[in-house]
Amino acid sequence: MGKVSNSVLHQKFRRWLLATLRAGTSSKSISDDSRRTFIINLFCLVGVLFTAPLGILALIHGSLLVGFGLISVAVLYFFNHLFIRRTQNHVLSGNVILYPLYALMLYLVYSGGVNGTGHVWIYCIPPVSLFLHGLKRGLTEVVLFTVGLVVILFLLDTPFDDLGYHPDLKSRIVYSFVLISFLSTIYEYISSRFNKSLQQLSIKLEQAATTDPLTGLLNRRGLEQHFLAEEWLMPNVWLMDVDFFKRINDEFGHDLGDEYLKALADTMSTFFQGKPVLISRWGGEEFLIVLNNMEDQSELANKLREVLGLASVQVSDGQRKSISSSVSIGVTMMRAGESITTALGRADKALYQAKEMGRNRIEKV
Ligand code: GH3
Ligand code: MG
Ligand code: MG
Repeated sequence: MGKVSNSVLHQKFRRWLLATLRAGTSSKSISDDSRRTFIINLFCLVGVLFTAPLGILALIHGSLLVGFGLISVAVLYFFNHLFIRRTQNHVLSGNVILYPLYALMLYLVYSGGVNGTGHVWIYCIPPVSLFLHGLKRGLTEVVLFTVGLVVILFLLDTPFDDLGYHPDLKSRIVYSFVLISFLSTIYEYISSRFNKSLQQLSIKLEQAATTDPLTGLLNRRGLEQHFLAEEWLMPNVWLMDVDFFKRINDEFGHDLGDEYLKALADTMSTFFQGKPVLISRWGGEEFLIVLNNMEDQSELANKLREVLGLASVQVSDGQRKSISSSVSIGVTMMRAGESITTALGRADKALYQAKEMGRNRIEKV
């Protein structure tokens, strides 16, 4: 019983943590923006969970300025999380994380922090800065921070000097900070390059998964994806099939049959250029066309049929012949509240009728 409720609690906590960290990220989880938003959320969470107790601890120890500073940062990070959740504005949220963080860290070094431990926190600056602001800007800010650090440690008269540390500590703080900055820069460089190639690969894979390799048109998956992603107002749905295509294959061979399908696809793309349309190769020699237009477009379908009837492919092996055929099209309009599958079923019926009635024609249902 205890085990069950423990695992429920664990799952709830996991769900809450993931929802908090992913708040404001887009569905494209490998994009830089999503990664940055994720890290901002992580920082907000860590900021609230660690900075607030440390602030309270500082207040208990009587370090009022450090205490209130830390608590203000915790409050700021809490609201920053709410802000990015609402607006997804990771640029502003990133600045809200970083600039107070720079100021707080420099102040911790200057004042020595609680019992002289302030400087141990500065090492979070390079990775966070480089990650949120990228290589160029992040590195510039890290260099400026280092300059600030050197000024505070070596040029100013600070409370840090009264803590009784060995004089070598100052230079070691700067050296170790520079070392961490260097390693963070290399890490950020490698990971951003890796991420870029991952994004390119993902675009290529997405394209391959949604495109028909022979014709370059959308495939079934591509059409469904685009259809779901875009706004359609009772579109026209046409199902088109090449007439007697088997004969073309039989007479000229499969490869020339492929060439002819490509020619049909190119002709269609030119025919529809600039129109709000999805053209897909639905299967073999069957094409599904979804045209965003609330009016009946039967005349346009008929025009397409005529144009495709003129498409041809030259047979090159000295036969002085060209391949051409006709197409039949089943036409329907999607009704309000209807699924694409239902409309497709009707277009299929219309196509069947067109074939029954002698081919090279359109039928509307
Ligand atoms: P109908 O007018 O009734 O549509 O006659 P049809 O010959 O076009 O119909 P059927 O469905 O009998 O034949 C379709 C042919 O399309 C059979 C198949 O070999 C061919 N086919 C399917 N996919 C491809 C392809 O990718 N390339 C080539 N070259 N042929 C294909
Ligand atoms: Mg056919
Ligand atoms: Mg067919």
